Formats: sequence, structure tokens, C-alpha cells
Amino acid sequence: MTRAYNFCAGPAALPEEVLLQAREEMLDWHGKGLSVMEMSHRSDEFVGIAQEAESLLRELLSVPQDYKVLFLQGGANLQFSSVPLNLLGSHSSADYIDTGIWSNKAVKEAARYGKIDVIASTADQHYHRVPQQQELKFNKDAAYVHYCSNETIGGLEFDYVPVTENGVPLVCDMSSTILSRPIDVAQYDMIYAGAQKNIGPAGLCLVIIKESLLDREVSSIPTMMSYRVAAENDSMYNTPPTFAWYLSGLVFQWLKRQGGVAAIGEVNARKASKLYAAIDESRLYANPIAVANRSWMNVPFTLADTGLEKAFLKEADAAGLLNLKGHRSVGGMRASIYNAVPEAAVDALIDFMHAFEKKYY
Ligand code: PMP
Repeated sequence: MTRAYNFCAGPAALPEEVLLQAREEMLDWHGKGLSVMEMSHRSDEFVGIAQEAESLLRELLSVPQDYKVLFLQGGANLQFSSVPLNLLGSHSSADYIDTGIWSNKAVKEAARYGKIDVIASTADQHYHRVPQQQELKFNKDAAYVHYCSNETIGGLEFDYVPVTENGVPLVCDMSSTILSRPIDVAQYDMIYAGAQKNIGPAGLCLVIIKESLLDREVSSIPTMMSYRVAAENDSMYNTPPTFAWYLSGLVFQWLKRQGGVAAIGEVNARKASKLYAAIDESRLYANPIAVANRSWMNVPFTLADTGLEKAFLKEADAAGLLNLKGHRSVGGMRASIYNAVPEAAVDALIDFMHAFEKKYY
């Protein structure tokens, strides 16, 4: 068996150890004579699996006691509408920070339910940097402030956590950066993240929310979108994606074995800095993002000669370096280097990039 290095932005690489363990347990989980996929979600076995995943996640991120952890469905996209329906309450507006494609999608969806004020945007600077704290012009009456800490497509990342005024709750789309390094959950009132990057397989969406925010939902909210209902039912109001939940638990165990988020954060910092250094030192490759806002997880880069892109991708593929094509909306290349992408994969990519440049440019 040869496993390639997978730089996909999501669904992304999973740790090989996790896949091997899942294979081992596939037909007969812990001597029970059945697969996790075949268990009732109400069984003691699955409830145990679900609870263990939650407690590991809580431990990895030091989630404070007054926050609920929810394992939901519908991906991060569904949260774009769930957030306003759950948090607008009696308020009529919310503040959003615009840093690219994903935060924009969140704005558009939320605007179906309330008045959305884009309080800062770097669109006129091609989203090459994030707005600074002093550029954020908050509204006093906003229900919440929403931002995306890492724009997966643009490769743009906040290097600070915005501080709101008057205790207005802060909501963060952390889909593509959660678990990549330590965070202080208490700085946020709600965090959400699609699973298919640093958490596990697609099909799950993680929500971490302050319990005190669970009484704000609008009365017309669909039951399946209510965080309150999810919290009251331990995220099992309906049948959850059991296998994705189980596999995420295995990823959390693996992450703990790596030394947790502090240890993986050091590896991630090293991976990102050597890849950006290789890009900056070359004549062929370029990344336009302000250095402080360069994403650790998603590294987009262009080729000075766009005519070489096809050959780059073809030869990378043949070398076992997969999924380097940039998002269809921006073109170029993108290497997503999440937790499960080993440092050796980044080294191999850098070697390939050097060799390719030497050969063609
Ligand atoms: N937000 C961000 C930052 C993302 O990267 C993505 C997916 N790539 C989404 C939201 C949407 O996630 P999903 O496909 O799980 O709905």
C-alpha cells in the first residue's frame, strides 16, 4: 500500500493511525460483534463513544464548564443560517467582518433573517490582510459579531481575536483552523467548525457555545437547527452521523497522543513557515498575503508563468503530491497542511517545487 500526501482543503487528510484503527475495528468494535455504523445511537456503546469524543475535545481545547459542545449536521454552511436564527433573539441586527469568500457567504445567508452590517472589510485590498481591531466599528445594539478566523480559500488568517464592545457576543467560523494550536475558548461566545479538516470526516459540524446564549432563538426556528434543542438532547435529537462522530473521537485520541494542541501547534508553525519561506525565496512562486495574516493551514500560491500550472499539477500528482489545485474561484495552487499532513509531506512538496522551478523556469 502506498499512501500519497494529500493537500486537499477538505475533506482533508486523516491521520493514518486513525484510519488503521478504524479498519481494525470496522467489523467488530471492541468484541461487540458489530461495526460502529450498525449500532443504535441510543446504545450504551455508542453513547460511550460520543461522550468520550466530547470529553477529549473539551480536554484538548480546555473548554470551560459553562460552554456546551454540540455535534451537529449540515456542515458549517448550515450554521450560516443557524447562527442568526439562534442568536438574533429580540435584536434586529448583527455585525459581520468581511475577509473573503466564507465570511461573505455567512453575511449573505444571515441577511435573510435580519439586518446585517458589514462593519469592516478588506475587499478593496483583495483580502490580502485582515482588518485591525481599531478598524472595527461596532454597533451598540448588535446581537453578535461574526467573523471567520481563517479564510480557507484566500489563505488569510486573523493573528488576533477581535474584542467586541458592551459585551456583544463574538461568534467565530473556525472551520479550517480549529485544533491547529491552542486557543482560549473564553475569548469567544460561540465557535463553529465543519469537521472535514482538523476534526474528522465530513458530515459533522462542531459547535461550542456559551450556555447563557441558548435562550435567544427566534420562535420560527426549525427544531433541527435549534442549539437549545441540540443541547437538551446531547446532540441526539435525531440520528446523528454516528460513524463520523466515532472517527472524530479517534482523531482526538490521536491528537492527544501527539501532545495536544500545543505540540501540534509547534509542528504546524514550522510546516507553514518553511513552505512560505520556499515560496518567498523563489522567482516562480508567490503568495500575496500580509505576512502576519498568512494562514498556517491553507497556503495558496501562484506561478509567475501561469502556462506552467497544468504541468505543475500533473507532475505533482505523479510524485504523489495530491490536490494542490487552488479553489476554482481564485485559481493558482493551494496546499492545505492540516494537522494530519505530516511535516515530511511539506518537505516533499518543497523539494518538488524547487526541482520544478529549476527544470522549467
Ligand atoms: N467556512 C469555512 C471557513 C470553510 O472552509 C468551509 C468549507 N470549506 C465552510 C465554512 C463550509 O463548510 P461546509 O462545507 O462544511 O458547509
